[in-house]
Amino acid sequence: MQLTDEEIRSILKREKLKKRRKQQTRRRLFLILLLIIAIIVAAFIKFRPQPEPLVTEEQPVRGVIFIDPGHGGDDPGSDNGARYEKEDVLKLGLAVRTYLEGKGFEVHMSRISDESVDRELRAQMANECNAQLMVSIHRNKADGKGEGVEAFIPKTDSEESRLLAVNIVKALAEAGFAERTVRAGTLNDPAVDYPEIAATTMPSCLVEVGFISNMDDNKRFDNNLDQNAQAIADAVDNTFRTIYEPGVETDEQAQEEESQAKG
Ligand SMILES: [Zn+2]
Repeated sequence: MQLTDEEIRSILKREKLKKRRKQQTRRRLFLILLLIIAIIVAAFIKFRPQPEPLVTEEQPVRGVIFIDPGHGGDDPGSDNGARYEKEDVLKLGLAVRTYLEGKGFEVHMSRISDESVDRELRAQMANECNAQLMVSIHRNKADGKGEGVEAFIPKTDSEESRLLAVNIVKALAEAGFAERTVRAGTLNDPAVDYPEIAATTMPSCLVEVGFISNMDDNKRFDNNLDQNAQAIADAVDNTFRTIYEPGVETDEQAQEEESQAKG
């Protein structure tokens, strides 16, 4: 069979048309596929799991407290056999920090490990972090029968430093220690300051938490470590309220008022 030119042309035309349609279909499928991918990507971006925020509930900071565990590094402080003041006061200081942070305070420390820090530098550190109260924690030692808690405040004997020291001594006495005195200056001279609190610009005190030379005081120190830390933190908290938050009622006061209103 012979095909005419006309027929050949029409067959070629049809083939061309078929080819074009196939191409169009392929192009459409490709576009649809692109669209589907775009929708999936958009959906993923919109609904992907959000990362958890690091701080879920930020507590407002009430104030800044500086805690100075005495001695450290090559200065062991007082000792009793293998027991060193620098280790006792670091343990207690870190526990005090935990309780204070629980009460909404920002706490800075002169040291958080066994390191040497100049005594004068501790007051400077407290000033530089704008601390509102500063407590230097130590332990006492006596050749004779020393026992109990005492505190020292700068020789200027400000009412606020005295309040801080008295509150801490009383709180530790309630925790089991014998109560000794609060004095301005040093043990030997009321006109001289201990370097840790000599240049502080905020109310400050240096507290001697029992005698390391006294077995009973060491028992009180070790067995009630948490209560002692809590006592110091409570005393700092109460002092802070008196000086910086007058008129702000405590949670306990608010609860008491509420229960009175109900009763
Ligand atoms: Zn000391």
